[in-house]
Amino acid sequence: MGDIKKIKGLLKETSRRIVILTHINPDGDAIGSSLGLYNILVNAGHVADVITPNAYPSFLHWLPGNDNVIIFQENKEAALKKIMEAEIIFSVDFNELKRIKQFHKPVKDSGAYKVMIDHHPEPEYFSDFTMNDVKVSSTAELVYIFITSLGLKKYINTEAAICLFTGIMADTGCFSYNSSNKDTYLIIAELLDYKFSKDGIYYRLYDNFSANRMRLLGYALNEKMEILPEYNTAIISLTRKELDKFKFQTGDTESFVNYPLSIKNICFSAFFVERENHIKISFRSKGDFAANEFSKKHFNGGGHLNAAGGESYVAMEKTIEKFKRLLPEYKQKLEKYEI
Ligand code: 5GP
Ligand code: MN
Repeated sequence: MGDIKKIKGLLKETSRRIVILTHINPDGDAIGSSLGLYNILVNAGHVADVITPNAYPSFLHWLPGNDNVIIFQENKEAALKKIMEAEIIFSVDFNELKRIKQFHKPVKDSGAYKVMIDHHPEPEYFSDFTMNDVKVSSTAELVYIFITSLGLKKYINTEAAICLFTGIMADTGCFSYNSSNKDTYLIIAELLDYKFSKDGIYYRLYDNFSANRMRLLGYALNEKMEILPEYNTAIISLTRKELDKFKFQTGDTESFVNYPLSIKNICFSAFFVERENHIKISFRSKGDFAANEFSKKHFNGGGHLNAAGGESYVAMEKTIEKFKRLLPEYKQKLEKYEI
């Protein structure tokens, strides 16, 4: 949506002041697509900065360009200055302003030309140009499509290719979901021309955990996983105290929510984790059970059909009680999920 000629024209000149924003609790696709776009735009002669609302896991810190990311929560003044001075603002991997939390207002008020690149459903149209496609595996893949359609492919370098590949790999769970489209693999084939080790990226993303994180996972599965067979559902919860016991670091619980889905017949998994002033919930589902609708309706959240997040502002036990109370309403859908 919007006029692609306008953004094409804006990017034709060099030295544009550009800010790239992504969502709170950034994941591999959020950082991969942001830094992929960042490396391309810098290579094209622009002055770009990536801003995230909060910190993200250390297994993403090796990505090329990471040292230039500004974390809003830790460096508010610098982030606000960049937003105020920006001529172009890219919003990547999110489609509603509330996903950037505290700094949604300066972004909304900014006079910069705004571009959104995203693959979540039901976008809020707060940008001048929106590239939105839920059928595309990841925002990183969409960044590749966007850059190509603008004639800027020549500015993709190895650094950018590594970031975009990482985003695609992360959002498809290493090509186990959202990955049945041939185009994804054609783009990956193009990216691999930039000469990097795909296997090395896998290693950095998935074989790079601390021993404490592995023990926390063991504890979560052994002691805290509850199966609700009548609803094909599983839940895991972790309190602050439990996290502290395992010396929790940002990102340590990433993907815990996926494990129960490996159990036969489990089609809905919820992971509750205590944060500073709320309970953060991750939902994952198999087949046609809509995790995003469930989250949006009951836990102030949203996301994709099979991967969504939400929040609760009552205590852990009350939150879990509410979740369990809701299940009977969904019994039929949970029993009859179709892959
Ligand atoms: P996660 O469980 O990894 O935090 O989130 C899973 C997916 O849901 C991601 O695609 C993420 O962007 C999205 N998501 C997480 N929390 C929210 C939320 O509060 N609102 C919306 N709209 N999407 C969310
Ligand atoms: Mn994504």
